[in-house]
Amino acid sequence: YQAASSSDYIDRTSFYFDTVINVRIYDNQDESILDGCMELAAYYDNLLSASKEDSDIWKINNSAGAPVKVSPETISLLDTALYYAKLTDGAFNPALYSVISLWDFTSDDEKDHVVPDDADIQKALEHTDYNTIVVDKDNSIVTLTDPDVKIELGAIAKGFIADKLKEYLVQQGVRSAIINLGGNALLVGSKPDNTSFTVGVEKPFGNAGDYVTTVSTVDKSVVTSGVYERYFKIDDTIYHHILDPKTGYPVNNGLYSVTILSSNSVDGDALSTACFVLGPSKGMELIESLDSVEAAFVYSDYSITYSSGLTK
Ligand code: ADP
Ligand code: MG
Ligand code: MG
Repeated sequence: YQAASSSDYIDRTSFYFDTVINVRIYDNQDESILDGCMELAAYYDNLLSASKEDSDIWKINNSAGAPVKVSPETISLLDTALYYAKLTDGAFNPALYSVISLWDFTSDDEKDHVVPDDADIQKALEHTDYNTIVVDKDNSIVTLTDPDVKIELGAIAKGFIADKLKEYLVQQGVRSAIINLGGNALLVGSKPDNTSFTVGVEKPFGNAGDYVTTVSTVDKSVVTSGVYERYFKIDDTIYHHILDPKTGYPVNNGLYSVTILSSNSVDGDALSTACFVLGPSKGMELIESLDSVEAAFVYSDYSITYSSGLTK
């Protein structure tokens, strides 16, 4: 993603949630607001990461089925994640970590780019039922009724955190900013001159700054899930990080990316992943059934389809 150029802004780039994040503020020169954003990013990374020891998610995953007290934010995100799991019949599945952790799409080392043993995938798939995650909202307690189920919120956490950063920015009086969490763009207001921001939809496997289309909008979330950010290739087959919860293998349905336009980024994040898994027809059907959510689907031949509320 890249925003249209503008004159004066302050910004900060850092690395959280296994990805590059950037916050850019157009209408305020106070660097301490950026400090605040990065503190929040660190806080949520430590709270929600499945791999960070002592995160809320790590504690649940290592509880052997005992009830675990977690923060209200974790409860709220798990609640939303389970809502989308049910809505999409498990296409979006927050209980997929036992399978996800068999794969390594991020390593720089060629040696790690291997397809896991099918037997291991089949065994892991037996412990991916999201209905075994029991959330007690009133008491802020999570219990896994299958202790071998492991939670991973990588497909929704960045959206959730972007919303939290926006809330903070607005509290600080910011009215013009862009929050970019590794391809999850959340706009705060408009550009300082009251015109729209333009967000580019990256060309899958293209060069930096190559876009297949752009979205001009204000105050919205623009989130993309795609095959091209985390993947490895063996011969001509691309193995990427969005897995079909039914098979445990990367989704292979002709899509290269799905971009969701929504008010809240948590919804866009869950839906971008879900639609990618659901595929062109069921995915678009889901988007059309939802109010105030739009989508652009990019296919492996670089053709694009848009939901009815979007135009070319
Ligand atoms: P990105 O990580 O690029 O933002 P997504 O939001 O689509 O992309 O999230 C993909 C991540 O979510 C994967 O790296 C993995 O951790 C996890 N994941 C993979 N497949 C699924 C799925 N079907 N449902 C939920 N989470 C998934
Ligand atoms: Mg995402
Ligand atoms: Mg997502």
